[in-house]
Amino acid sequence: ARKPLISGNWKLNPQTKEEALTLARGIASAITDSTPDVDVALFVPYVFIESTMSVVGGKLSVGAEGVCPHSNGAYTGGISTSMIKSIGVDWVLAGHSERREIFGETDYYINAQCLKILDEGMSVMLCIGESLAEFEADLAGSVCATQLKKGLKGVRKEDLDRVAIAYEPVWAIGTGKVATPEIAQSVHAKCRDILAGMYDRETANMIRILYGGSVTPDSIDDLMAMPDIDGALVGGASLDINKFGRIVNFN
Ligand code: 13P
Repeated sequence: ARKPLISGNWKLNPQTKEEALTLARGIASAITDSTPDVDVALFVPYVFIESTMSVVGGKLSVGAEGVCPHSNGAYTGGISTSMIKSIGVDWVLAGHSERREIFGETDYYINAQCLKILDEGMSVMLCIGESLAEFEADLAGSVCATQLKKGLKGVRKEDLDRVAIAYEPVWAIGTGKVATPEIAQSVHAKCRDILAGMYDRETANMIRILYGGSVTPDSIDDLMAMPDIDGALVGGASLDINKFGRIVNFN
């Protein structure tokens, strides 16, 4: 039994600390005694991490949207795993398609991030997913296989309890075109098979695989009903207290 993980990715939002704290407080107050037994995590811009932590009353984890895989030294603009660990961060995102596409991060670089995050004792959410052209060419499974194998290269089996996978088809991100529960389920099942091949079935069955891409209150319930969908990584709707509050309280 995998405990669901509902997470939000604020990306380059909101624009002020005041707005960030209002949002964080609202989301925390949507988590109540009647909320399902879920883990909740918010990936927020570095500058808001500590203040966000201070207003959510331990109801959710506040994670970093990324990290520089180098330890220290001359990497202008970088934020190291030690730095974020030292302020109490547990979760870090890696491999988001926006980092891959806009910032040119490679599987090799993403793998270095994953290894460093795990080395530091934190948990990593590795994002994978195919483009529209790849989806149309029926390549979702093979793209995910490559990204999983390269992203998790050298990750030890005993560290996988601190790994979650987010399947985010690029064509579904920010487009309003959520994958159908059936499509998402079939790719999630494939991803689990790939993980079983890389490690073993028991290990694969323990790893949480989240779906991301235009998740809203309208789509969350049917997605969560699928056997291999263990949560969601929510972009746009995580900036809205009512929407994310409803998503956390899925049926
Ligand atoms: P949207 O929910 O805005 O489509 O974004 C998904 C995403 O990229 C989360 O990481």
